[in-house]
Amino acid sequence: MTITNAETAAASVPSQSTYQTRVADYWNAEENPVNLELGKIDDLYHHHYGIGAVDRSVLDEGPGSGPDRITAELHRLEQAQAELLASQLGGDLSPTDRVFDAGCGRGGGSVVAHLRYGCHADGVTISRKQADFANEQARKRGIDDKVRYHHRNMLDTGLETGAYAASWNNESTMYVELDLLFAEHARLLRRGGRYVTITGCYNDAYGRASREVSLINAHYICDIHPRSEYFRAMARNRLVPVHVQDLTADTIPYWELRQQAGHLVTGIEKTFLDAYRNGSFQYLLIVADRV
Ligand code: SAH
Repeated sequence: MTITNAETAAASVPSQSTYQTRVADYWNAEENPVNLELGKIDDLYHHHYGIGAVDRSVLDEGPGSGPDRITAELHRLEQAQAELLASQLGGDLSPTDRVFDAGCGRGGGSVVAHLRYGCHADGVTISRKQADFANEQARKRGIDDKVRYHHRNMLDTGLETGAYAASWNNESTMYVELDLLFAEHARLLRRGGRYVTITGCYNDAYGRASREVSLINAHYICDIHPRSEYFRAMARNRLVPVHVQDLTADTIPYWELRQQAGHLVTGIEKTFLDAYRNGSFQYLLIVADRV
């Protein structure tokens, strides 16, 4: 049998479902200015949202205001989100430790963790284009000996069992079944290791998924989980929460600013704001120990 390049490439991501292929297609094609223009500022590319108070002066008329300042402000808030996640990975991480970035996008989160702790990082994305892009960024930065990105399925990474001191998902849990995801984190993390996620989840106290949550699912081809499902799936997979924080109020200012950034909007901004404001959707940080 002749093995074509396409077949070889597909085989490097074990047991990829049709759904996962569609998700990979989405991220392979993704070129949104809100991701690329912000990342260009300091070569930290994030595909997640921001948190914290907004400097509203960027919206003023006159010198020193304008699109570039809005872009920089959105990037500052996304960077603050990445720093919050990294700060939860465990203060005792050392340069010999390894960390795992599940659903790593264009790679910014692993760089942030490496810069903070000097640790080794392995990022995994189902998009080959993202993995190539992120490896090129690490090479340019001169950290490619410690920060590596892999085109793989985060449910089945092939990475070394028990080798990781910390791991995380930054806005990437809504693409997978949580039981399968947490089983893989539990396998990779050493005992006492730290798991962190920042994610959008739907609010069980509201009821079922709202119209807005369904629209977000359709926009990104994802399947937002209810909040309760995180804790059930963690409990089943030796992950014991140590800290939970509702970041919903902290992310709304970011979305309000983004909605006014005509050069960067993707069209989903109003839906996110409606979902957060009507209580059906929450932006959550969960920190857990691998026991
Ligand atoms: N964590 C990154 C990117 C978030 S976007 C950041 O904070 O910037 C969601 C990411 O999840 C994309 O990179 C997408 O490729 C990845 N992803 C989705 N399903 C995946 C899977 N099954 N295995 C690996 N990566 C996946």
